[in-house]
Amino acid sequence: MKNKTLLIDKLLIKKFGVPERSINPPDLVDLLIATILSQNTNDRNSFKAYNNLKQKYSAWEEAAKLKASQIEKLIKVAGLGKQKSKAIKNLLISLIKERGNISLNHLKKMNDEEVLTELTSYPGIGVKTASCVLLFSLNRNVCPVDTHVHRTLNRIGIVKTTSPDKTFFGINKNFPEGIAHSFHTNLIRLGREICKPIKPLCLNCPLNKVCKYENKMYDKPNSYKENSFMLLDNV
Ligand code: SF4
Repeated sequence: MKNKTLLIDKLLIKKFGVPERSINPPDLVDLLIATILSQNTNDRNSFKAYNNLKQKYSAWEEAAKLKASQIEKLIKVAGLGKQKSKAIKNLLISLIKERGNISLNHLKKMNDEEVLTELTSYPGIGVKTASCVLLFSLNRNVCPVDTHVHRTLNRIGIVKTTSPDKTFFGINKNFPEGIAHSFHTNLIRLGREICKPIKPLCLNCPLNKVCKYENKMYDKPNSYKENSFMLLDNV
């Protein structure tokens, strides 16, 4: 699996380039809230919702004083407002109660497993959201798995799993050093632009030769839309 992962990373970089990332890693709480907002919506809408909160309040302590329903109004554009506002409110209040302030900087001293265990203990925060904090804020070599990453890795034949969380634990047991960010980000691009859920554009795919998918499609695409905006590299 390790060699195939390295090969896929190389082929994706050839197609999409090395993905840009912020020079300074984003604050852990900022990143966590942005990732909660990104669940089941696109990056542009979650970015709008994130900015609605972040630009209105100079500190998360101020947002923590809002009722969940007030947070819900501000983040409406990202969808699932009730669920997401509850998770955000709960996180902010819990951090104040447990630590006296809204910070997750203590996670910097923990190993990957400890960070996952701690973050997934909060309601509304799953493995994918917690692993984004590991990759984007803590710069760990961990590859988060969303629906795009799960679908493409199963089609290619790197894993044979039934859920994104199972894919996550399958690929991260022995992940090749130093490539988690490019691999994760470019696979998301592949899933959005080429290896689409219903009609994959296999004719345009840089992984065609290594992919084991049995139902490849070779229809000529009507249009090819670039979709490279990544929320978590813009927090
Ligand atoms: S060849 Fe087709 S199915 Fe395989 S990864 Fe590329 S687009 Fe997806």
